[in-house]
Amino acid sequence: MRRPGLQIDGVTAQAFTLPTDSPEADGTMTWSATTVIVVHVTAGGCTGLGYTYSDAAVARLIEATLKHRIVGSDPFAPTKLWDTLQAAVRNMGRAGMTANAISAVDTAVWDLKAKLLDLPLVTLLGARRDHIEIYGSGGFTTYSDQQLAQQLHRWVHDAGCRAVKIKVGTDPARDPHRLEIARCAIGDAALFMDANGAMDVKAAIASGRRAMEAWGVCWFEEPVSSDDIEGLTAIRAHLPAPMELAAGEYIYNVDMARQLLACHAVDVLQADITRCGGVSGLLRIADLADAFHIPFSAHCAPALHLHALCAVRNLRHLEWFHDHVRIEQRLFDGAPVPHDGRIAPDLTQPGCGLTFRYADAAPFAVH
Ligand SMILES: [Mg+2]
Repeated sequence: MRRPGLQIDGVTAQAFTLPTDSPEADGTMTWSATTVIVVHVTAGGCTGLGYTYSDAAVARLIEATLKHRIVGSDPFAPTKLWDTLQAAVRNMGRAGMTANAISAVDTAVWDLKAKLLDLPLVTLLGARRDHIEIYGSGGFTTYSDQQLAQQLHRWVHDAGCRAVKIKVGTDPARDPHRLEIARCAIGDAALFMDANGAMDVKAAIASGRRAMEAWGVCWFEEPVSSDDIEGLTAIRAHLPAPMELAAGEYIYNVDMARQLLACHAVDVLQADITRCGGVSGLLRIADLADAFHIPFSAHCAPALHLHALCAVRNLRHLEWFHDHVRIEQRLFDGAPVPHDGRIAPDLTQPGCGLTFRYADAAPFAVH
């Protein structure tokens, strides 16, 4: 219920580091653990939940530096707080961990507002659809052939995904073999590949064309670093349909999205609600892409994206990322379960429908 004068009266942030279920690598990084920073904000007896995937230092940034600007603010005005926090981090830089922190806080405040109004978040935002399409994503370059085939097969045949994505670029000589394994495992489903910026422009054009012709790959993500916008633009111009070039997972603010769009660097723009400014940032970026007639696809953290994406006009799909799905299902009640390659918000619950299970997370707390 709307209560004039209500203020946010508390904010907490805590980091948890969980080991992966097996070693993971993409074209430019290897890792064996993932850190999630969980944020709760409170007002009027309700608690809003948000989180981000980043370094544990984000928790300290929220509790030590941003907290005094969050407490006392209006829980019904998340975009006003978003403006305040963006201004507050000016001298720290608006990209990277500051954006992670603002994203987690913003999603928590939107969740809180919806709970105070006793509405599902998607209803508060304005639903455009009742479910969203997911694509299976993992296919790490550390996987054996058997692991790769089994993971992709499960997504297509058990979860009903109509598309899956694998990592490429760690060992280019081995990628044709891995793409062959993937194609055999998924039959006629769409096959995506993600180089995480591992290639140069000429290698990307050559490998993109070959992957499309030989294995029907129709999505090439970050062939070169997203910092190389001219490189992305050049590659896009040399990849014929149906192959699409996608990038955007390192967008931390609206200007970074504008630069990719204005340079015609992508066929599909990506962004991540845990990096790009939370619900407030994601909706602005998706709308900006729409103004360029470019579809939008969300990166990772599927449970946290679900409600906001149901309000996005130009949505293509959401990345069902193995590492984050595992963490979300382990730590949060209400994490979505795919049916026929789709997930849907639970409209019987207020907010984003997620509850953090602290007892399950406690062994992984970062102190
Ligand atoms: Mg990617």
